[in-house]
Amino acid sequence: METFDILEETGHEQVVFCNNKESGLRCIIAIHDTTLGPALGGTRMWNYRNTEEALKDALRLSKAMTYKSAIAGLNFGGGKAVIIGDAATQKSEMLFRTFGKFIDGMGGRFIAAEDVGTDVKDMEFARMESKYVTGISKAIGGSGDPTPVTAYGVYVGMKACAHERWGSDSLRGRRIAVQGAGQVSRHLCEYLYNEGAEIFITDINEEKTKIILETIKAQSVKPNEIYEIDAEIFSPCALGSVVNDDTLPKFKFEIIAGGANNQLEDEVKHGKIILEKGILYAPDYVINSGGLINVANELEGYRQDRAMKQAEGIYTIVKKVLKTSKVEKIPTNEASKKLAEERLSSVSRIRNIYSGVSAFSGRLGELTRK
Ligand code: NAD
Repeated sequence: METFDILEETGHEQVVFCNNKESGLRCIIAIHDTTLGPALGGTRMWNYRNTEEALKDALRLSKAMTYKSAIAGLNFGGGKAVIIGDAATQKSEMLFRTFGKFIDGMGGRFIAAEDVGTDVKDMEFARMESKYVTGISKAIGGSGDPTPVTAYGVYVGMKACAHERWGSDSLRGRRIAVQGAGQVSRHLCEYLYNEGAEIFITDINEEKTKIILETIKAQSVKPNEIYEIDAEIFSPCALGSVVNDDTLPKFKFEIIAGGANNQLEDEVKHGKIILEKGILYAPDYVINSGGLINVANELEGYRQDRAMKQAEGIYTIVKKVLKTSKVEKIPTNEASKKLAEERLSSVSRIRNIYSGVSAFSGRLGELTRK
């Protein structure tokens, strides 16, 4: 398929290829939609096999950011940068400062943050060349580690599901199976434990589980056992695609609510099966939008209490998604897509009103001068 035909189909506004021989930078910045504001998105560094694979990823991830911002109520568009290279061996100050130069050249249409393969340090190099970079450390005015805010958003989103299912958002005594014992999971488990939930936890790295078990009481299970736990809530906080043809038949869960991205292997097919099985699924990009809320806050002078307050709003958003799904009898992931698209379309209609007014007043000025 021709590149422009692909962009037509995905609805992308702009794709920028950045190349610099001296630093070795090869990067693609994809801007999906700027209806709500400048495109804000992470910077992924990955050893892509070829340009086509990198472009595909940039397009997929930037489009997802449009929906994530829209449903979270943020005034940002969707964008993503992908740097082609090995994050373990090919990082340098030059690489990220060059990346920053390219970002700066885009004049604020794209605002970068960190993602898989990049970290605070990399963003700080990029920030030396451009103010359109977020995700820098707290010590120099940034938002630092986003995981406490992400985890808080997942926690309140889970409570919203509990309220919908059981008429009370208390998680006391609820049995919760948490997959992954990483950063998001660690903070989430603290909230769940403090509320009196019964936690089952797993990680492929046993050391990670041990660290969590030092501060909370939970039952450690083997990675492949987590899908079969007799628990009411499943909280995927590790990898994507964990809700699939193999795992779904094992589920006794009533709710799926976790921080991982792209939890459903096939959005359409598995979204439908979840609905048919009567499981309440909090769409991943809705419930894990705390990370995005956190970096978005950096642009207004970062304050964690404000970011946390905003992340609390995920409760109401999840409720709205669940209600739309119930009323319209559609999967929750379809409901959130619908709500995000409605917001995009109403904001773009307001834009049209104003541009109409300004075009009219400009014309009026011309007429009165004559
Ligand atoms: P992390 O790397 O700190 O933790 C992930 C953990 O999952 C690791 O400990 C890893 O060993 C474990 N893991 C990997 N495969 C596993 C498997 N098959 N079974 C059990 N455990 C497995 O990452 P994180 O920052 O905690 O993020 C967790 C998820 O949330 C990721 O999908 C990430 O994309 C998503 N997310 C994170 C944020 C954030 O603020 N960090 C924001 C939005 C979404």
